[in-house]
Amino acid sequence: MKLNVDVLRYLSKDDFRVLTAVEMGMRNHEIVPSELVDRIASLKHGGTYKVLKNLLKHKLVHHDSSKYDGFRLTYLGYDFLAIKTMVNRGVFTAVGRQIGVGKESDIFEVAKEDGSILAMKLHRLGRTSFRAVKSKRDYLRHRRSFNWLYLSRLAALKEFSFMKALEEHGFPVPNAVECNRHCVVMSLIHGYPLVQVRELQSPEVVFERILGLIIHLAEHGLIHCDFNEFNIMIDDEEKVTLIDFPQMVSVSHRNAQMYFDRDVDCIFKFFSKRFNLSLEEKIDNPDNSEEDLEGSSRPCFSSISKSVGFLDKELAASGFTRKEQDDMDKI
Ligand code: ADP
Ligand code: MG
Repeated sequence: MKLNVDVLRYLSKDDFRVLTAVEMGMRNHEIVPSELVDRIASLKHGGTYKVLKNLLKHKLVHHDSSKYDGFRLTYLGYDFLAIKTMVNRGVFTAVGRQIGVGKESDIFEVAKEDGSILAMKLHRLGRTSFRAVKSKRDYLRHRRSFNWLYLSRLAALKEFSFMKALEEHGFPVPNAVECNRHCVVMSLIHGYPLVQVRELQSPEVVFERILGLIIHLAEHGLIHCDFNEFNIMIDDEEKVTLIDFPQMVSVSHRNAQMYFDRDVDCIFKFFSKRFNLSLEEKIDNPDNSEEDLEGSSRPCFSSISKSVGFLDKELAASGFTRKEQDDMDKI
């Protein structure tokens, strides 16, 4: 998605006031009636409708008159609110080029006043899931809280909280700087996603390092759940950094063993294929029983001593609570 932040500069106080009014209205309405926007914004000299027209022109809101005359925020509008807040807080002063695109996120470089560069991740979660959720009668009564604003905000909060807690426990993750709405600002990793790396000086060492991370996470009570070559960054010194945390689960999750094995499997497959490490051979060797293999090469989930709930305190301190996790789990 194109993020033309130049528009930000031309938006007036009133523009942001009305944009914020639409956001507030969306707590209770999927489409916020125009009169409600006007009432919440309560501009001194009126003119909400003119402002809405301007916001519409810049695609910050979407107009819907199918049931009644109303508006909802677009992702771009939500982006602008988050960016504006970040800029007001002095987190960064400018948005630069896009450095990553995910199915559920966009990543940009942002610059601080002193010229140093950070990474900003905008979560794009929820639109499709929201539709799926809406079709499920169970959740209809919770409909208010299960909209895409809420979902992408939760994903960002979860990511931020986990990143912070993991960093405090010495894991190689980006430094979590700030979180607002669906936006997470973190340190920029100077490296490449493993998927882009064709050659390594010492693939065995990197492999062991990465496998060690999966085990270390489990010892701290966590499973990444998306541990693959897209979410591992490698720098020129072959130092490893782990990214992308919205889907992490606890080792007490009922499918923990499956998620753990899947993470391990991804790494085994990738390293044997890309760097020709002779890992898969052992698995395919019919003379070896599975149990032997588990003991000799693959980390075994059940034999790791896991401290369940170890990170809970830190996570709660960052604002990500049991309730938030429950809401995400439902979806
Ligand atoms: P998604 O959840 O959409 O998969 P990721 O967090 O994995 O998003 O980020 C997508 C891509 O953006 C990564 O593969 C990486 O190339 C880049 N990226 C993400 N975070 C950073 C960062 N802190 N520093 C540098 N690049 C990053
Ligand atoms: Mg990713």
